[in-house]
Order: sequence, then C-alpha cells, then structure tokens
Amino acid sequence: MLWYNSTAEDIRKADPDTAVLPVGSTEQHGPHLPVGTDFMIAEAVAKGVAERLGAYLLPAIPISTCREHMGKKGSVWMNPDTFYNMIKDILLSLKEQGFKKIIYIQAHGGIFTGTPAIREVNATNPDIKVVKIDLVQFFTSNELSSILECKDNLHACEYETSLMLYLHEDLVRKELIEDYIPNIPRDFLNYNSIFKYSKNGVWGKPSLATKEKGEKLLNALIDKTIEYAKWVFETCNI
Ligand SMILES: [Zn+2]
Repeated sequence: MLWYNSTAEDIRKADPDTAVLPVGSTEQHGPHLPVGTDFMIAEAVAKGVAERLGAYLLPAIPISTCREHMGKKGSVWMNPDTFYNMIKDILLSLKEQGFKKIIYIQAHGGIFTGTPAIREVNATNPDIKVVKIDLVQFFTSNELSSILECKDNLHACEYETSLMLYLHEDLVRKELIEDYIPNIPRDFLNYNSIFKYSKNGVWGKPSLATKEKGEKLLNALIDKTIEYAKWVFETCNI
C-alpha cells in the first residue's frame, strides 16, 4: 500500500503512475453521524481503489465547500474559488512528479468547482488525465440501487449511515437516528441552508441503514470507481 504511511523512498521504488485523491467535507450530518462522515467515506473508497490498482493514495481532503450546511456550529467551508485553485495546485504537483493518471474521488455532493478545475487541468495538460468521480453518480447503477431500499439518499441517509455503521460503528449514535425527507427537490439547496427544509439536518431514511448494506455499498463503490476510471483512461489512450 502506497500512502502517507509510506516513505518517499518506498514511493520512488514502486514508481506508481496513478494517484488517488479523496475529497470530503467537514459538516453537520444530523444528530447521529459525525461531522467527518464525508471524508471518512471518501478515504475508505479511495483506499480500496488504490490498493487494487497499486496506486499512490493521498490523504483525504477534509474541508471543501458546504455552505448549504451553515446554521450549526461545526460545519467548515472555504470559498469555491479557493477550492478550485487548491485542487488545480494538487493535480499539477502530481503531474510535475510524473503521475500520468489521477483519480479524484468526491464523497460530498455539495462541491461544484471540482469539475471546472479538473476540466482545466485535462484541457491544458495532454500528458496526464484526471478522472472525476462523484460517488453520487453511481446511485442509479444496478449495483447500488439493489442495495438501497430508499431512493431518496441525500444526507445522513440510509447510504451514508450504512457506510458509517460498517466503517466506524462506534461513531454512530444509533439511538438518535431519525428519518426526514423534505418535500422539495435537491436543487433547493442552491437557495437556502438544509436547515430551512430539514430541522434535524437529515435528508433520507437512516433508519433503514445496516452494517451489512454498508459493506456491500463500499465494495460496489470501489468496483464502480475502478470500472469507470479504467474506461476513461482507455478511451483517452492513457
Ligand atoms: Zn455526507
């Protein structure tokens, strides 16, 4: 495993051409999940991907953009343009050191400037390719939709709670789990904080979560990420 516990010499000897960059958030996750939920999920998926591909795993970025969770102490965000520049800098530093393939894995749906940063880097650096994965993109796949009973998984929901039960059961406050699905579309988070629509900051049915679903979800997310990344790299001849 090549990651932050490896020495630079370990990494030089293995000389991987692929790096995996997990991105999460620090934000409220209802009464029952920790604020670090997103970066813990990003890190777990990225670790599975990096292990299978022999890639270099970067530490998960724990802070991004999450103004839609303002209204409760503990959520922390940066401006979208700061995030855009930070991602570009990280990707270009990997390129400078000889990485050719980079897999960016986002486990927080409220980041909208990852895509333009990745497009810019791909358009201006033909010798590398950055694949963008937003884990939400796999929700409608057969693999994930056959595991999830509720189709409305947005925040601190069946999906995130199942993953956390599997990854860090000790951090889940099971006695505080409470379902809530606001009667509005997701894009209403463009207009107000989630607290305008959901009193407890939950959007989904965490009561349906189980540890077993979490294990299946994690494996499916790792499989889908690898399948999608390989498809992009092959199509781009890289
Ligand atoms: Zn989350």
